[in-house]
Amino acid sequence: MSRQTIVAANWKMNGSLELATQMCNGLNDENFKDNHQVIICPPAPYLSTIQANLKNSQIACGAQNINENEKGAYTGEISALMLNDLQVQYVILGHSERRAMFADSSEIVAEKVAYALASGLKPILCIGETEEERESGETELRLSYQLAPVIAKIGIESFKNVVVAYEPVWAIGTGKTASTKIAQETHEFIRGYLAGFDADVAQQVPLLYGGSVNATNCKELFAQADIDGGLIGGASLKIEEFKKICLAV
Ligand code: PEP
Repeated sequence: MSRQTIVAANWKMNGSLELATQMCNGLNDENFKDNHQVIICPPAPYLSTIQANLKNSQIACGAQNINENEKGAYTGEISALMLNDLQVQYVILGHSERRAMFADSSEIVAEKVAYALASGLKPILCIGETEEERESGETELRLSYQLAPVIAKIGIESFKNVVVAYEPVWAIGTGKTASTKIAQETHEFIRGYLAGFDADVAQQVPLLYGGSVNATNCKELFAQADIDGGLIGGASLKIEEFKKICLAV
């Protein structure tokens, strides 16, 4: 079966109102292949601008985080209901920067994924190992520890509405991309792990690679059997480069 392919932009705490408008203008007229989705995840203040300027039905907007609660005294946080108000469709959850700097444990990430799904948002669930974990042969263990609480919380069937992004922490923002061999092997492990719960669901889940993807290395990565696209950080802030990545799938 042919899975949906996805290229998602994670702007992190970068960008501007001007970039938000220009990125939409730069991508609106592109002809993407069938069953391909482009997602732009800007900082929250630019979500409405992106939404208002998108004119291509294959491009959607995503947020970079939500709180696991509906509303209340959580200063600085964003609720899934607010994203519903803006008709935002996707949300990145469990990014390694949030896990490392904002104490998003795998259990909290599981809560967020559950709440996102209950609110009609599609989570882009990020998982990945550190350099030390890879060097000590613990990659698969780490990835399974990150996936298990989410599966326990939402059930494997719900993964039909989840996108998984494998992002080795050592490759994020470092210019050190995983080799295609390492990336494919790890994606294969992730799909196999999900298949241990339900083989049909595992075949349907789009698996994205993230970590120093650019217009030069994306083609070879995207050509791998279990890599269905990418989650792009730095290169997603450059309109022409991001466009090339979106068209390379
Ligand atoms: C990311 O942070 O999700 C990411 C993949 O960043 P970069 O492409 O800059 O490595």
